[in-house]
Amino acid sequence: MFREYYVKDFTPNQNIPAIEKREFGFASFEGWMLRHKTFSNTDELASFLRDSVPLHAYVSGAYYEDPEAEMEKKGWLGADLIFEIDADHIPTPCNKIHDEWTCNKCGFSGKGIVPEKCPACDGEKFDDHTWICEVCLASAKLETIKLLDMLTRDFGFHEKEMRTFFSGHRGYHIHVESETVKTLDSIARKEIVDYVSGLGLETALHGLDENDLRNLSVNDSSWRGRIAKGMHGFILNAGPDDYKNIGLERSSATSITKLMTSNKDGILNSLSGSRPWRTIKGIGPETWKRIIEHSAKQQTANVDTVVTTDIHRLIRLTGSLHGKTGLRKVEFPAAAIDSFDPFKSAIAFKAGTTTVFVSNAPEFRLGDETFGPYQNQKVDLPTAAAVLLICKKRAEVAQ
Ligand SMILES: [Zn+2]
Ligand SMILES: [Zn+2]
Repeated sequence: MFREYYVKDFTPNQNIPAIEKREFGFASFEGWMLRHKTFSNTDELASFLRDSVPLHAYVSGAYYEDPEAEMEKKGWLGADLIFEIDADHIPTPCNKIHDEWTCNKCGFSGKGIVPEKCPACDGEKFDDHTWICEVCLASAKLETIKLLDMLTRDFGFHEKEMRTFFSGHRGYHIHVESETVKTLDSIARKEIVDYVSGLGLETALHGLDENDLRNLSVNDSSWRGRIAKGMHGFILNAGPDDYKNIGLERSSATSITKLMTSNKDGILNSLSGSRPWRTIKGIGPETWKRIIEHSAKQQTANVDTVVTTDIHRLIRLTGSLHGKTGLRKVEFPAAAIDSFDPFKSAIAFKAGTTTVFVSNAPEFRLGDETFGPYQNQKVDLPTAAAVLLICKKRAEVAQ
């Protein structure tokens, strides 16, 4: 099916600026990796894909004088600024249910997000057994929306300089293609990651003083405005449990909730900039500090640090199939992100059915149809759903 896709449906007109300066890499079905490939145009690339049919296809975010040379001799000229937001790194209520990992070294296994080190043997390599789920992808999308907003409003990138993609598996990518970022080194890129993920964020350095909130408004620029927005959202909905969760004692959480509720309209109007701030008796600096810190955390964008700071990184090729799903990496306009449906737009195989034997799969949706759950059973599925289960190692083609 991958071959059929690359022969019939892969469109070579994917926009890859300065294609001849980029390095390409491919992972084969047999398990080996090919790197340092170059193509002078998209037709050459498409013909290579038709002939070799890789499991995964990648292209560098970097530009080189000689992309075919070994790494030290390539002559690095610059790189796009790339962000990956992946459900692998976002704690969701469901990843403890559908994600499992096993340590390659000692076989220790657990549920949820893959740890950095194995708790049993300190090993760092794992086999993961994850699922592509609507809740996880919705939370990845939320992080992406926050990131897009920061890149636009705080960094001033134009929408034409930013490209938005669904990865074909569990996340979203944003590529900033602009002369202003091209030659930034890893350290500069790390500063950008720290800014968007709020690492080392000192609210005091943004003029946020819990003793004096006068002038704080959602209309403020950068992190001040973001925190004000977070506070607005928090105060609008928070109940006693929420105040307790941000670190207040149960007894004061109840009284603070009462005070907040009776002063809510006033506070929200002050945060919106439409009414001067007034001190509220009974809500002290310690409470405001907790609310400010919690609000800051809510506004951060959870990006994969390693991807953005690695200036030689290979990124999945747009339009190629993701070997873990058989779904395509697709580009879509950032302005349409709210309504973007990865389970529709990324489907590569639109026709035909295949009979598979499914070992186990949770309920899932593709297009407008919902499938499963399945457990050790033979089923006829639309080819896209069958390929997804096979790629996820949950099914085999039935004999
Ligand atoms: Zn281990
Ligand atoms: Zn999930």
